Amino acid sequence: MPTDSLVIHEIYASIQGESSFAGVPCTFVRTVGCDLRCSWCDTPQAFHGGTRHARSEVLALALAFETPLVELTGGEPLLQAAVLPLLTELCDAGRTVLIETGGHRDVSGVDPRVHKIVDLKAPGSGECGKNRLENLALLTARDELKFVLADRADYEWMRATIDEHRLATLGPTLLASPAFGLLDPRELVDWILDDKLPVRVNLQLHKYVWGPDATGV
Ligand code: SF4
Repeated sequence: MPTDSLVIHEIYASIQGESSFAGVPCTFVRTVGCDLRCSWCDTPQAFHGGTRHARSEVLALALAFETPLVELTGGEPLLQAAVLPLLTELCDAGRTVLIETGGHRDVSGVDPRVHKIVDLKAPGSGECGKNRLENLALLTARDELKFVLADRADYEWMRATIDEHRLATLGPTLLASPAFGLLDPRELVDWILDDKLPVRVNLQLHKYVWGPDATGV
């Protein structure tokens, strides 16, 4: 795997949409390729294609937008070896750096200055068996664990998982995100309040601003 180049779907500036950074101007570097197929995936356009760029070129393009945040996303960014040194270079350039990963790849090589936003896939995704639970011990208060929930069964799985792995005291912020168009956010809020769950409800802000089917935003 080359570390001096990577295959990119798009690089663009928008607002961060789905973490505790939601609403902050952010440059997104979207890599190509994913080895999962979540049932509700909203970025299948990043599964294939793209253009190979030198890592130095990607760094320059990402910095040129001059946003305070830069996020590596995909697809699955940790499939490409060049992502790890790119994250470090973005940190060295003074940016607040985020990576969104599906939670099935080893995050141990990620620069400790990076905020890792790591999915724990619930059963409704169809990829629950791929969760890499070894990652949990590598997360700190700088990081976030995200549950995308499609229905009540997914919610109950999240509640049991938080309990089983003592996630409330682990450190990372716990994000509960209703899958857009599948789970009514009002229902999710009611369940969380009933159970007093220590999670933060996380809406996909960009979908409310630009609509559910917009890409490159
Ligand atoms: S991990 Fe992300 S990019 Fe890959 S299939 Fe799931 S939602 Fe889509």
